[in-house]
Amino acid sequence: MSIAENIKRIKEKIAQAAIAAGRNPEDILLCAATKMNDAENVCQAIAAGVDCCGENRVQELTAKLSDNAYEGAPVHFIGHLQTNKVKQVVGKVDLIQSVDSLRLLDAIKKEASRQGICQDILLEVNAANQESKSGFTTQEIPSVIEQLSEYSSIRVLGFMTIPPICEKSGDNDKFFQEILQLSVDITAKKYDNVCVKILSMGMSGDYEDAIRCGSTMIRIGTAIFGSRDYH
Ligand SMILES: *Cc1c(COP(=O)(O)O)cnc(C)c1O
Repeated sequence: MSIAENIKRIKEKIAQAAIAAGRNPEDILLCAATKMNDAENVCQAIAAGVDCCGENRVQELTAKLSDNAYEGAPVHFIGHLQTNKVKQVVGKVDLIQSVDSLRLLDAIKKEASRQGICQDILLEVNAANQESKSGFTTQEIPSVIEQLSEYSSIRVLGFMTIPPICEKSGDNDKFFQEILQLSVDITAKKYDNVCVKILSMGMSGDYEDAIRCGSTMIRIGTAIFGSRDYH
């Protein structure tokens, strides 16, 4: 199947999952996870109507930006970002979804302030407390956000999570629900530069579950582009 056909099918499934959950399909954005796909594939995905693109590696982001690959859609950073590379990402992307440590937060704040901009970010939540994953625990989030309220060069638009690989439908529901609850709690506290609009959760294996649990953005790679060849 072509990229366009895959996207059409995913959009149908988004609509079905949303309606089944009593939600408006338009409240769920489709982010194409474009890692290891070239500018040509990225253009095809944008032409087929994805809402944004998510890039994992700084090198790929930089190369595709210079190829104008993302023309017509916002681009987000969704991979682990090293502090020494923030200059290549801050101000270049519409949203950094993968802010996973205080050190990184601080580096982004400084760079955004140096550029005189406000960088939109999501805080990455390690909902399953996996050793292999970075991110804040749900327990840490309130204190992180308290510290953030003094940062005028950063605006938090919500949370992103990468739960364990989903073996069967429903496996990750508890993590998605935990993040939905976190967003409700944080919103109730009315922090200054925090406006929780985006819950970025759900990938190829579990996006229908994530939508049922309140996701507002799913990040899809394999189901759009086919499986990645890491060799
Ligand atoms: C690769 C990737 C995805 C997409 O994963 P698929 O299972 O291929 O849909 C989503 N989010 C992040 C952060 C990724 O690195």
